[in-house]
Amino acid sequence: MPLFDFKCEACSEVFEEFTKEKRTMPCPKCGCNANRMISAPTIKLEGWSGSFPSAADAWVKKHNQKAAIEAKRNAE
Ligand SMILES: [Zn+2]
Repeated sequence: MPLFDFKCEACSEVFEEFTKEKRTMPCPKCGCNANRMISAPTIKLEGWSGSFPSAADAWVKKHNQKAAIEAKRNAE
């Protein structure tokens, strides 16, 4: 089960909870509604494109090609 961060609307308490589909949880501090925070990992291409520019370019090109092929396949 994934671990999510929740933030309380009322007191801004942040806590972690294992949950599959719940978007709100009662705050452990005040009992008010706490909303799930979206903490998707952000991939920063700039970070490694600086040291490996050609590798990053090739990866992006390849990735885009594959996505285009798959989009075409899905459309048919
Ligand atoms: Zn609270």
